[in-house]
This record gives sequence, structure tokens and C-alpha cells, in this order.
Amino acid sequence: MSMKTGTMLKIAKLGNPILRKIAAPVDSREIKSSELQRLIDDMFETMYDEPGIGLAAPQVSRSIQLVVMACPGESGFPETVLINPSIVYYGPEQVETWEGCLSVDGLRGKVTRPSLVRVKGLDRKGKPLDFEATELYAVCIQHELDHLIGKVFLDRMTDLSTLTQLHEFSQYWKKEPTKVI
Ligand code: ZN
Repeated sequence: MSMKTGTMLKIAKLGNPILRKIAAPVDSREIKSSELQRLIDDMFETMYDEPGIGLAAPQVSRSIQLVVMACPGESGFPETVLINPSIVYYGPEQVETWEGCLSVDGLRGKVTRPSLVRVKGLDRKGKPLDFEATELYAVCIQHELDHLIGKVFLDRMTDLSTLTQLHEFSQYWKKEPTKVI
């Protein structure tokens, strides 16, 4: 493997119609292509640069079923690439998390989602994945997979009264840990 020499990609922002499209599956024969591998590297670089903990291909104006995620640290999760993913099981417990989005500047809002998911898909080598994720990892997976069906976290908010601008978020709410998904 060579060193990361990725390019920063432009993030599509709320209002860009590509964020509302259903993403197409990736042809499994194309996964190992240099174009797709390069896109994955560039998406990681862009995500780390922002910084964020997840990025879906439609957010960089590629309407394909590809997401990258990573959250270093104790309550984090490893670098993950999901291609053509699907959630095949949702756990019974719910967790409430402050979510933000690289495509939605300056806003945070509380979203309630299942705290455990089982996800299937392919990794960046095209190998099948089948694993369970909990807590922030599970929330991030659900947030990113929503981008593949044209949804953003605002659509998942059941109480818009928690919608908060960044300055007010740090002033009133920041005691709770937060990561930008
Ligand atoms: Zn997002």
C-alpha cells in the first residue's frame, strides 16, 4: 500500500438534489478498480480533514452505495468501508444522540435510533462483511446508510425543538459528548 495522497473532495450541502437521490449499487467487479480505491482514499482524507466520523458517497456527489467511517479513541470505532450495505437487524433498545452532518452546516439535533444494528455489505476488497455494531458505531452506520436512500438526520428528528445552532450548542449543550457524523 502506498502512502495516502488523497485529494479533498467538495461536500454537497443540503439543498443539492444529489443528497435526495437513491444511490446505485456498486458493481462488484469495479470495487478493485483504481478509480474506486482512489475515491475511498479521497473520502477518508476529506472526512478526516473536516473533521467528521462518517462520509457517504452522495455527499461528495457520487450517487453510489459507498460509505466510509472512522472514530479514533476509546468510545470510537475502527476505519470502516461499507459497499452496498444493508441493515438486516435492528436491536430493541433506542439511543438518543446529538447528530450533525457535513452536508448540514452549523446545526445539531437530537435523533433517536436503535442502539444496535447488524449490517451486511462488502469491504473495500469486495469481501463480504456481516457484523453487529452498537452505540455510536451503530448510530453512525444508520446515519450514513440514510444518505444512500436520500435521507438526512433532519428527516429522522421526531422533535425539531432540539435543533440547535453550533454556537448555542457549545453554550448550552456541549456537556454531552458530540461527534459530527
Ligand atoms: Zn451526514
